Amino acid sequence: MSIIEDLIEYKKGIAGHSWKKLKGFSYNNDYISLVRIDSSNRWVTPTEMEKQWSIIVDKKKDFTSLPNFSFLKEQGLLTLTPVSNGANKGCFGIRLYGMKKDPDEGIIKKLLDFIFEGCVLTLEEQEILSKMTEEEIEALFNAEDETASFLYREGLRKVRKLNKQIIDHLKKIYKGECQLCGQNLGEQYGKEIVQAHHIEYFSKSQNNDSTNIIILCPNCHALIHKCNPSYEKDMFSFKFGNGNKLKIKNIGHLIGNGR
Ligand SMILES: [Zn+2]
Ligand SMILES: [Zn+2]
Repeated sequence: MSIIEDLIEYKKGIAGHSWKKLKGFSYNNDYISLVRIDSSNRWVTPTEMEKQWSIIVDKKKDFTSLPNFSFLKEQGLLTLTPVSNGANKGCFGIRLYGMKKDPDEGIIKKLLDFIFEGCVLTLEEQEILSKMTEEEIEALFNAEDETASFLYREGLRKVRKLNKQIIDHLKKIYKGECQLCGQNLGEQYGKEIVQAHHIEYFSKSQNNDSTNIIILCPNCHALIHKCNPSYEKDMFSFKFGNGNKLKIKNIGHLIGNGR
């Protein structure tokens, strides 16, 4: 069963009186560490009770715009609220309302795995990535059709899927225009030929935040890979080995923290 079906199943039936704190559960990745899971009762009518699940997390990196998190939120299955007092002040609560049963460890793990699917690399995926060059990785993420890509590797399916979602979203913003030089090389031929580039190489950083991705024309992209300039984040410019600097013309999404 999918996590959606599981959650809907937990919303059926009648809520009983109980309050639970799950213990001995750990979940830790680049985005969160798990602090606590609670299930508490609340009366919705004088006769009907429902449960609220709270997954209290220490937010290390923004996960609210990850596609699967946004999806669950849009479906009305969960909300995110800051914890404003108590021992976990400053943490965040992923809350699910209208539940009829207490959660078990399995469903919480499944929910969190779903939220971070494709964002956190498994050891197997890391192993595959370590054998690929940055150019191969980017070709894999930029390819239109995954089955046609000779670089397609089964183990990287989820990572590619997520990267591609982010990249496609960014490409839509710039409509074929290169963020670095401002040119739109394919425009007069009715095609977009821009590519996504990971500023901190993905092979090293595994960072697929949109603020680490820039949309480039093939010329600028080739130049960046050939020269491997350092990136001056505050200046939004690339500094080349010979001292020359190239400022990004359209910094666009690089300022924001969303995806
Ligand atoms: Zn360019
Ligand atoms: Zn690149």
